[in-house]
Amino acid sequence: MATGKINVSADNIFPIIKKFLYSDHEIFLRELISNAVDATNKLKTLSNLGEFSGELGDLSIHVDVDKKKKTITIRDRGVGMSSDEINKYINEVAFSGATEFVKTYEGKIDKGAMIGHFGLGFYSSFMISTKVEIHSRSWKMPEAEGAFWSCDGSPEYSLVSKKKKDRGTHIILHVDGDSEEFLEEFKINELLKKYARFMSVPIVCGEKDERNNLAPEGEEAKWETQKVPNVINPDSPAWTKKPSELSDEDYKAFYKALYPYTFEEPLFHIHMNVDYPFDLTGILFFPKIKPNMELNKNKIQLYQSQVFVTDNVEGIVPDFLMMLHGVIDSRDIPLNVSRSYLQADSNVKKISGHITKKVADKLEEMLKNDRNDFEQKLKDIAVIIEYGMVTDEKFFERALKFNMLRSAVDESASTIDEYLDKIGTLQTDKEGQRVVLYTSNAEAQHSYIQKAKAEGYDVVVLDSPIAGHWIQKIEGAKEKVRFARVDSDMLDKLIPKDGDRSHLLTESEQESLKGYVESAINDKNYSVRIEALASDDMPMMVVMPEFMRRMKEMSASGGGGFMGMADFPDHYDVVVNGNHPLAGKILKAEEPADREQLVLQAKDLALLQQGLLTGERLTAFVSRSLDRLV
Ligand code: ADP
Ligand code: MG
Repeated sequence: MATGKINVSADNIFPIIKKFLYSDHEIFLRELISNAVDATNKLKTLSNLGEFSGELGDLSIHVDVDKKKKTITIRDRGVGMSSDEINKYINEVAFSGATEFVKTYEGKIDKGAMIGHFGLGFYSSFMISTKVEIHSRSWKMPEAEGAFWSCDGSPEYSLVSKKKKDRGTHIILHVDGDSEEFLEEFKINELLKKYARFMSVPIVCGEKDERNNLAPEGEEAKWETQKVPNVINPDSPAWTKKPSELSDEDYKAFYKALYPYTFEEPLFHIHMNVDYPFDLTGILFFPKIKPNMELNKNKIQLYQSQVFVTDNVEGIVPDFLMMLHGVIDSRDIPLNVSRSYLQADSNVKKISGHITKKVADKLEEMLKNDRNDFEQKLKDIAVIIEYGMVTDEKFFERALKFNMLRSAVDESASTIDEYLDKIGTLQTDKEGQRVVLYTSNAEAQHSYIQKAKAEGYDVVVLDSPIAGHWIQKIEGAKEKVRFARVDSDMLDKLIPKDGDRSHLLTESEQESLKGYVESAINDKNYSVRIEALASDDMPMMVVMPEFMRRMKEMSASGGGGFMGMADFPDHYDVVVNGNHPLAGKILKAEEPADREQLVLQAKDLALLQQGLLTGERLTAFVSRSLDRLV
C-alpha cells in the first residue's frame, strides 16, 4: 500500500474548488465523461495502429447512480491507467492543473458571479463528492492486476493495487450531502443530454422501456415491454458527416433534434467542414427573422470534439451571425479557459473570420444558383445581412454583390449595382448624384410613393431598424450616390434638376405668403420656405429634413456617434408650393381669419399625410373640416 501527499502549495484546494464553482457544479459530469471518451478514443487509435491487438468489445461508457450507497460511477473500457500513470496523471499533472486554476481565480470571483466555462478536469469531481475513487486497469496490464486510488478531499491520497476484471477505468464518486440532487437518475440523464448528446462513444445511463409487437404481421398486435439500455447518444451527429451523405430531410431532422420546441423550419443551412489551418465543423441554420422580433442570441451551441461547451458563442461567432441557429465544433477552441482569454485567442479569431467567409460564399452561391429562390429567402434574413454590412468590413465588401434592394413600385429586386444602373439618368440630380428614393413604410408613405411613381421614379423599401446606418455605409462606399426618403421633401427638391422652375409669384408675394403661413402656424419648431414647384405637386408639405431624421434614427438604434440626438426636439420644414393654386387663394383671402383657416387646413392635411396628426390637433382638424362641410 502506498500513501502519499499530493504535492501542493495551497494547503487544501478542495474547499476552494467547492466554494468557487458554486453554480457550475454540474460540469463535473462533462469532465469525467470527456475523460472517459478520450480514454476510449485513445484505445481505438492504438487498435488502428496495431499496437493494441486485443478485442475492443463493447466500448460503451456507463453512468450508474446508486441512491442507497450515494455513489455515481462512471465506467469506461478505454486505455485505463496503471499505478504509475495514476501517479503521473492524477497526482501530479491533473493536480497541478487544478492548483493553477485556484491560483488564477482565487480572490477574483465575486460571490455569486460566474466566470463562464472552464474546466478543472478530473478534480472537478470534488465539487460534489466527499470522496473519489479510481479503480483502473491499463490495457498494458495483465488480467490479475489493477490500481485503486482514493482521496477524501484532503491532500492525502492512497494508491494500492487491487485486482480489476476488465480493462478501463471506474471513477466512483461518493456524493456529498449537499449535492444529493445528483443522485437522481433523471437529473443525471438531463445533464448527459445536455453535455453528451452528440459524443462519439455511446453513453448509457440506466434502462428504459421498449415496446415490441410480438405478433406476426397481419395479426392482432401483441405487445411486450422490455428493458433496454438507455443510450443518451444513439445517433452520430449530422455535423460529423459529410454534406454529401446528408439529404435536406436529414438536416431538417437534425434541426428538430436540436430545437424540439421550435416549429418553424430553417430557411437554409451552411455545413462547415475545415481541417486546415484550423479545425472547424458545424452546421449553421438561418432562421426566418421577423422585423422587431425579440432576437434570441443563445441558439448556437459550441462543442469541442462533440462535447457540449456552451451556448454563449459571443466572440467565436461574429456578432451579426449570433441570431443564427445550429452547432459549431472545434478541437482548437480551448475548453478550459475564461471568456476573456477566449476572445484574445488567435484560433478563435480565425474561426470567426472563417464563418463570415463561409456565410458570404453560401449567399453568393445561392444567388448564382437560383436567383428567384434567393430573392424570396433574402426577405427573411435582410436584417442579418444589413447588420453584417454595417458591422463587418469584410462582409460588407462581399455583400455588395448579393445584397438586394426591393422596389416598392414593382416588387423587383436588384443588387446595388444593378439598381444604380436601373435608376440611371432619370434619378440623377443636377450635381450628377444618383438619388435612391426609399420608403421606411410603404403603407404610411403610400401617397409619396405614388407621386414618385407618376414621375417615373422608383422607390425602394428600407424598413429595418438599422436602415440609417446601412445607408450611411453605402453612401460612403459608392461615389455620387445619395439616399433620400421619399417623404422628406417635395419631389423636385429630392432630385433637383437643371433649370429651376420659375415662380408664378412675385418676390413680394412670396414674402407675404411666407409671413402669413408663419403667423398662422406660430410654432418655432416649424421653418417655412416657399418653393416654385409643379402646380400639380402638393400645395404644402411638412417634413423632417433627411439628415436630421436619419441622425435621430441612428441615435435611437444606438451607435454611430449620434448619441443624444434622439432627445433633440423635433424640427420640421414647412414647404409651401408657391405655384399651387392654393398659394394664390391664401394671398387673396379677404378676412385674416379665413386666411388662417386655409393655412391651418393645408398644414394639417400635410401632417396627416405624414402620419403626424394626432391627439388634440387631430380633433381640431376634424371639427374644423366638419364646420366647412355644413
Ligand atoms: P485533461 O483531461 O485535460 O488531461 P484531467 O484532469 O481531466 O485533465 O485528466 C488528467 C489525466 O488523467 C488525463 O489526461 C488522462 O491521462 C488521465 N485520465 C483521466 N481520466 C481517465 C480515464 N477515465 N481513463 C484513462 N485516463 C484518464
Ligand atoms: Mg479531462
